[in-house]
Amino acid sequence: MSDASAMPEKAREVLDLLLAGNQRYIPGAYRHPHQSPERRSEISEGQHPIAAVLTCSDSRVSPELIFDRGLGDLFEVRVAGNALGDLGLGSLEFAAAHLDVPLLIVLGHSKCGAMIGAAAGGEHEGHIGSVVAALRPALDEVQGHPGDLVDNAARANARRVARELRESEPLISELVAVGRTAVVAAYYDIDTGGVEILE
Ligand SMILES: [Zn+2]
Repeated sequence: MSDASAMPEKAREVLDLLLAGNQRYIPGAYRHPHQSPERRSEISEGQHPIAAVLTCSDSRVSPELIFDRGLGDLFEVRVAGNALGDLGLGSLEFAAAHLDVPLLIVLGHSKCGAMIGAAAGGEHEGHIGSVVAALRPALDEVQGHPGDLVDNAARANARRVARELRESEPLISELVAVGRTAVVAAYYDIDTGGVEILE
């Protein structure tokens, strides 16, 4: 979905709702919806999230806070650097195909520690190298571009992962083709709190 105005109506509505929540979050004018004990019982028999979010594990990037939402609203996959692996893809497929989520958001962010580590290069102990390897293509893509390498790469990575999701077969590409779900890439600024839609 490279043209946001061409998004299916339901996806557009959800995106507008989330961006409105982000506008409240930026100045601290939260409503904290859906965080009461009543909401907890309301959704105890089943979930009907309005969107799925693939974002970084970074403790500063909490989707419910950033979008001023609450329990049962967002189906989340969080992995360092919001990289897309098989388990994450399967989880997002479940959200799109079985929970009928009309919108999948890939949310990268500024000052991403995983991207900083990947940009620094060198050896990484344990399984950290797998995260770094997943982020390398985005870093290579923006090498030599003007501006901050890490933030440029985080944007490029969100775009790349969103494209990968849109094209992933057999489930999500089909749901996107029939307009049942849409995939957007977005970028969260740790300092301002703002979420920018990339594509
Ligand atoms: Zn990060």
